[in-house]
Amino acid sequence: MPVIREEDFIQSIADAFQYISYYHPVDYIRALHEAYVREESPAAKDAMAQILINSRMAAEGHRPICQDTGIAIAFIKVGMNVRWDTKKSLEALVNEGVRRAYTDRDNPLRASMLADPDGKRVTTGDNTPAVTHVELVPGDEVEVIVAAKGGGSENKSKFACLLPSDSIVDWVLNLVPTMGADWCPPGLLSLGIGGSPEKAMLIAKWGMMDPINIHELKARGAKTHAEELRLELFEKVNALGIGAQGLGGLSTVLDVKVSEYPTHAASKPVALLPNCAATRHAHFVLDGSGPATLDPPSLEDWPRLTLDLATSKRVNLDTLTKKEIATWKAGDRLLLSGKLLTGRDAAHKRLVDMMARGEKLPVDLANRFIYYTGPVDPVREEVVGPAGPTTSSRMDKFVEPVLAKTGLIGMVGKSERGPIAIDSIKKHGAVYCIAVGGAAYLVSKAIRGSRMVAFPDLGMEAIREFDVVDMPVICAVDSKGEAVHKSGPAQWRARIGKIPVAVA
Ligand code: SF4
Repeated sequence: MPVIREEDFIQSIADAFQYISYYHPVDYIRALHEAYVREESPAAKDAMAQILINSRMAAEGHRPICQDTGIAIAFIKVGMNVRWDTKKSLEALVNEGVRRAYTDRDNPLRASMLADPDGKRVTTGDNTPAVTHVELVPGDEVEVIVAAKGGGSENKSKFACLLPSDSIVDWVLNLVPTMGADWCPPGLLSLGIGGSPEKAMLIAKWGMMDPINIHELKARGAKTHAEELRLELFEKVNALGIGAQGLGGLSTVLDVKVSEYPTHAASKPVALLPNCAATRHAHFVLDGSGPATLDPPSLEDWPRLTLDLATSKRVNLDTLTKKEIATWKAGDRLLLSGKLLTGRDAAHKRLVDMMARGEKLPVDLANRFIYYTGPVDPVREEVVGPAGPTTSSRMDKFVEPVLAKTGLIGMVGKSERGPIAIDSIKKHGAVYCIAVGGAAYLVSKAIRGSRMVAFPDLGMEAIREFDVVDMPVICAVDSKGEAVHKSGPAQWRARIGKIPVAVA
């Protein structure tokens, strides 16, 4: 009877979370590179290049692919013949492994977990607890899948109890455009169909961990209804033209997974879960012979790409005026240099509350740009850890009071803005730019200095001032209110209607 030692299990969990923080699964890299080669939209191609370059840098530097190092998820299948050499619960063992991984001294990961989701929202400090799912199965082994899921893509999870006669294809094709780019495409969509509501969500999450293999399915042809659905959705979702980062293009999804479970005659529960540009999961098996060994991938699997900066306009943030930004057009590629403030959800809330109380702000925002980011802590010679953009729409409700009362002229984040933010941007002649979600380590290399400016108690959400040099961004909403996330997908959807869709 195999005996699983406590320390072997904990260390295997810790090693796996470290591993996935800097190594993309190789199947994701291959699929993304193939999509990059096929891509005809210059903006989407550039975004994919940044994700691929970032991925190689993360793999080489053993630093996180994305600043959001995720909520830790573990799926564990325990063989019923296995005995455990521990007095702790399986959940406690997973949490100890997560704690060890996220507080690693060489590669600390961001602690994003909050103890009280509807209270003060105070971080637990070590990214615990994980979300652990356990299944007892016949056998002599323990099979583990760990995943780190970013908030941007988790927040776009969808569930519905459809009528038995409803079309799942129609449901998906109506939903995906409403998800925008907050989930950082290109990635995967995973559907769970059947069971009860929680079962549908669970099988969708589990199915997301399967390798990307739509190319093989296309080559051999569908044999089941689920496989037919995968092929149909892959083609039709890509034909929506959303593209990498929602900029418009041929590839929105690199695969579509479908998992099914029997269900009640009156029901058709369906879950739709996206996996983002920071697709991160690892699989290992313990048989009692010691901790798992996760072999590093070969860097030969990563393409060698360089950023094409020839068509980008250089911008000096320190001398920038409203007159200058008024000349920018949605879709312009820019390289920002100079002083760039940071701030995201908690900092914005605090600034707006202070303004409402008539208090003096701790930072002068006039003629400045603010970057929505919550970086990973730096190590060794780093100025800052991976510092990619966070979802901007969460800050939409703060845009009007901040632009109206502080003189801020620009924002940098990721994905689209909602109508209230766009109206304010237009009204105040400001601009909104995007950096590429999932290219956090690459972006951090453009940051040459960082100093704390306000609210240090907010941790990664504090306001800092970065010194940036040639930070690549795209003007996503110009001062006239033109938005690239509206025009790009519309243009590419129309074009895909006339050209072959992204084929596997
Ligand atoms: S790639 Fe985008 S959605 Fe995924 S973890 Fe990073 S910021 Fe979040």
